[in-house]
Amino acid sequence: MKIVLASRNKKKIEELRQLLSELLADVEVLSLDDVGIVGDIEENGTTFEENALIKARVAAESGYIGVADDSGLTVDALGGEPGVYSARYAAKCHFAGDHDDEGNNQCLLYNLRDVPDGERGGAYVCAVACAFPDGREFVVRGESRGILLREYHGTGGFGYDPLFYFPQFGKTFAEVTPAQKHSVSHRGIAIRAFAKKLKEYL
Ligand code: IMP
Repeated sequence: MKIVLASRNKKKIEELRQLLSELLADVEVLSLDDVGIVGDIEENGTTFEENALIKARVAAESGYIGVADDSGLTVDALGGEPGVYSARYAAKCHFAGDHDDEGNNQCLLYNLRDVPDGERGGAYVCAVACAFPDGREFVVRGESRGILLREYHGTGGFGYDPLFYFPQFGKTFAEVTPAQKHSVSHRGIAIRAFAKKLKEYL
């Protein structure tokens, strides 16, 4: 079975290839480049689910099963921000410098500066969408709840991980192994749900 992943991020493709090969037999994961789909996909949805579907539909134009994920951090005290803007949150803080992980984290820390300890909850969310060439489609969602710290802990992971404390581990996602993170993460949960649901569709 061939799956086209709507991503050009080599790290993400490799990670999903690894996860899916453990969950599905005979799966070959291709990238957009592999099937000759060029150009940027405009992610103009207002939810993770919408954005994942937009991307999966483009991948399905290849004639194979199209799959895409969209993820981010939603913080309770910020009304769900950064949400679908997670990758570009730094742009909302003029002082945040580069629009990268560091800038995003600085922006988050600034916006949470007056939020007391008991109210710093949030969740990572991941939507995985699947679009079939015949028009059928589905979306699954995974969530992982944690607490946003006031300073960095750990150097692993990426994005907001050094600030995302996971109570069941007593550590941030930047302080655990990739396998530990996948076992409880939004992306791990969504990918396992995706693999289960895909089998029902085949
Ligand atoms: P995307 O789904 O690759 O577009 O991710 C969107 C953004 O959400 C990333 O750039 C990160 O800022 C954030 N994000 C998503 N998943 C994670 C995670 O597992 N750890 C840290 N940050 C994440």
